[in-house]
Amino acid sequence: MPSFAEARVDLDAISANVAVLVERAAGALVMGVVKADGYGHGMVPAARAALAGGATWLGTAFIDEALGLRAAGIDAPLLAWIVPPGEPIAEAVEAGIDIGVGSTWTADEVVAAARRTGRTARVQVKADTGLNRGGIGEADWPRVIEAVARAEADGLVTVTGLFSHFACADEPGHPSVAAQLAVFHEALEFAEKAGLRPEVRHIANSAAALTLPEARFDLVRPGIAAYGLSPVPGLDVPGLRPAMTLSARVAGCKRVPAGSGVSYGYRYTTDRETTLALVPLGYGDGVPRAATNTGPVLVGGRRRTIAGTVCMDQFVVDIGDDTVEPGDRAVLFGPGDGGEPTAQDWADALGTISYEIVTRVGRRVPRAYT
Ligand code: PLP
Repeated sequence: MPSFAEARVDLDAISANVAVLVERAAGALVMGVVKADGYGHGMVPAARAALAGGATWLGTAFIDEALGLRAAGIDAPLLAWIVPPGEPIAEAVEAGIDIGVGSTWTADEVVAAARRTGRTARVQVKADTGLNRGGIGEADWPRVIEAVARAEADGLVTVTGLFSHFACADEPGHPSVAAQLAVFHEALEFAEKAGLRPEVRHIANSAAALTLPEARFDLVRPGIAAYGLSPVPGLDVPGLRPAMTLSARVAGCKRVPAGSGVSYGYRYTTDRETTLALVPLGYGDGVPRAATNTGPVLVGGRRRTIAGTVCMDQFVVDIGDDTVEPGDRAVLFGPGDGGEPTAQDWADALGTISYEIVTRVGRRVPRAYT
């Protein structure tokens, strides 16, 4: 029996999207980014689909996520790049997971874990080239890069990569992009002088992978584009197809008179006698409460807007004089070719990015894979 709500994930679309990215990478390797449960699509199925599409690496934020991929039997090279205190570094070393070294603390801990486990740790140095988030800032390059180079000479680590991340790659022409690229080149030179020969040098997320050939280096790290969503609103990337369709079965309909306040706070009032359809998905499922009176939804073959406040488990749609049967599907977003909104439409309506729309779809919504 199909569930009342589902996030249908088209794994072939993920594979095909990744194949497009492989083609566009023009010889650079592709790392499929599957953090945050594969941007809400399901980490392990998304990872397998990305590999089937030609990705040869997978990237996660946290070590636990990468360990989850190993536990599922995935033996592709993995990189985890956020390593706060408490992360299972020794387990990562033992599982052959590349550890992103983006702080002096992580550098010290990885070397210590390698000593403890007697295993050579795989390390990728993350240089901060101007995002000013994670990453080793220029002032700490001597301390960290020279330390990992020494640890490599001692057989404690292998420095497999050197990477960075853009602040504004999704804003074509933003001056910070060229500035960050220049600093990245300096970091690469610094590492080379310290004797490092990383196998993969990389800085490109989806936006850079698709719009900046000079940022491809040895590998690109697309996330959002692998799920079929454009990293740059308005940029059409031929061949990309959104992989997730979020829908729910209408739970019931009722006729109400003009002047009826709808849902908590009466933020919507009917202006005529009309029919209200109840859709059993709410902010407990990741439908943002900010979609109150703004979220688009396809109900009864027509696009409409959520009426009134989004509740924890449900919201209401005013369908006028149309007829919708309980059990009919209300589609919040999908590829868009059946008249339904896309995750980008939701992002535009709510003043956010499509990443947030797909990633926040909650655990209560079963994923159905096709
Ligand atoms: N690389 C890093 C370090 C990231 O944090 C992310 C995601 O935020 C990505 C790559 C993938 O970015 P995108 O989804 O924009 O392609």
